[in-house]
Amino acid sequence: MLATMASDQFGVCSICRAPIRMGTKLVLCTVSTCNSGKRKLVFCSPGCWDAHLPTARHRDAGFTEEIARPGG
Ligand SMILES: [Zn+2]
Ligand SMILES: [Zn+2]
Repeated sequence: MLATMASDQFGVCSICRAPIRMGTKLVLCTVSTCNSGKRKLVFCSPGCWDAHLPTARHRDAGFTEEIARPGG
């Protein structure tokens, strides 16, 4: 069995690998390529979202803040 994450953990930040817990705020990129498919990026803070911009090369990017929920 894979048990690398605690059950109340949503995932980890794509930049700093900080754990993101269920029910806490997370930051998503508004650009669809960052937000869908197999390479879905999540960030722990707007600062980490900002850190992915040089590699992502978006023309027009923004971020949204959401609450981490199971299955969402
Ligand atoms: Zn982070
Ligand atoms: Zn992005």
